[in-house]
Amino acid sequence: MAEHTTRVDVGIVGGGPAGLMTALLLKRRGISAAVVETRSKDEIHRTQRAGILEAGTVQMLVDADIGSRVLTDGHEHPGTVLSFEGVQHRIDFQELVDRSVWLYPQNEVFLDLATAWEREGGQIHWSVSDSSVEGIESDAPALTFRDEHGDRGRIEAKLIVGADGSRSKCRKLIPEDVRTDYFTAYPFAWFGILCEAPPTAPELIYANSEVGFALISQRNESVQRMYFQCDPQTDPEQWEEEAIFDHIQQVLGEGVELKRGPIFEKTVLPFRSYVCDPLTYQRLVLAGDAGHTVPPTGAKGLNLAFCDVRALIPRVEEFLAQSESATDPFAPLRNYSRTALDRVWKAQNFSYWATNLLHRQPDENAFAHQRRRGEFDAITGSVYGRAYFADSYTGWADIHGQLPHR
Ligand SMILES: Cc1cc2nc3c(=O)[nH]c(=O)nc-3n(C[C@H](O)[C@H](O)[C@H](O)COP(=O)(O)OP(=O)(O)OC[C@H]3O[C@@H](n4cnc5c(N)ncnc54)[C@H](O)[C@@H]3O)c2cc1C
Repeated sequence: MAEHTTRVDVGIVGGGPAGLMTALLLKRRGISAAVVETRSKDEIHRTQRAGILEAGTVQMLVDADIGSRVLTDGHEHPGTVLSFEGVQHRIDFQELVDRSVWLYPQNEVFLDLATAWEREGGQIHWSVSDSSVEGIESDAPALTFRDEHGDRGRIEAKLIVGADGSRSKCRKLIPEDVRTDYFTAYPFAWFGILCEAPPTAPELIYANSEVGFALISQRNESVQRMYFQCDPQTDPEQWEEEAIFDHIQQVLGEGVELKRGPIFEKTVLPFRSYVCDPLTYQRLVLAGDAGHTVPPTGAKGLNLAFCDVRALIPRVEEFLAQSESATDPFAPLRNYSRTALDRVWKAQNFSYWATNLLHRQPDENAFAHQRRRGEFDAITGSVYGRAYFADSYTGWADIHGQLPHR
């Protein structure tokens, strides 16, 4: 069995959006990186996840100059609809905060990033096993793994980026007496479907009624994504196609006619909120879901991952440029952690708030439902309420540049 060792500035665990965007932006600054990923490129590309990109995320894809198709194949959404007991209120993002979001599925974001990284000769090992990180407290940390042919690989680096998703092993390397884990779970989950049907509506519809929550989202002209609230223990196979559509139609009310078609994917997605603080320890930093997860209601996870990367790149550059006699060499990385976590907590708050606004608690009484009606009215019935939703959903202004026109 062969063994191969390579040396780079930064070793990256995880070839999802956070890991690949980090690798590409480091390369743009002349910093070498290598990525290891447990899954195959094809498997990741087939996994359906995020769909909504904030304007700042789109801007990062454009600025990275990777030939992303986001502006040609993505769809600009200048607003969204909040529906309560069948009454719909449009939140006009453009009018309120002069920004839009874009529907461009995560698997296409992934494909753009992976294709660019490989085209530019970036080192990536797909389908690895036994990957592990060693030596983060030394001057020479390393990634070790077994590649897809069974050969042992070793990547020696000056810094390791843990971008290994919500079940991150990297974050466990931050000692327990250094790390605080903030966590909360929710008593409901999302039942997600993909179906062959035309779009029900041009923009997303977030709906609440006495039977709970539903979300009408889109993928393209012939495939749609929809979700409804369910018990986390739900077996998706127990739900027949017509029962699913009837339930979603009930949440939407009579004002919108749901477009139906053959369902080809059913999944149950549990909800949780998690933050790891700090996002760094010695020669390890975390980015993306490895450091924090949000429930999908606010469409923030992928966007936060990109915000992490945006905050991280200049700090990595600063870290690597220091002389050996620097008195506090890890200060730039701690600085990254503080900056990133400020935004993470804003996103946690919005995701938590939107989740509770839009979902029915299992033990909810009539008072709670009427109180929610009041909260809905306070948001949709006032320009300040609508602006709060629009500002949070589209991503707070601090990271936005001007988007190029299509
Ligand atoms: C149904 C759903 C809908 C969502 N909708 C939205 C949305 O609309 N907008 C939004 O912004 N976000 C959304 N999200 C969240 C978004 O998908 C995640 O936040 C995003 O994938 C985070 O990217 P990441 O690179 O940090 O993690 P991941 O995409 O999870 O990538 C981590 C990678 O690391 C790999 N890995 C794990 N362990 C190892 C190891 N030991 N060695 C090597 N590789 C490893 C994994 O295989 C994976 O490919 C949604 C999520 C779900 C599930």
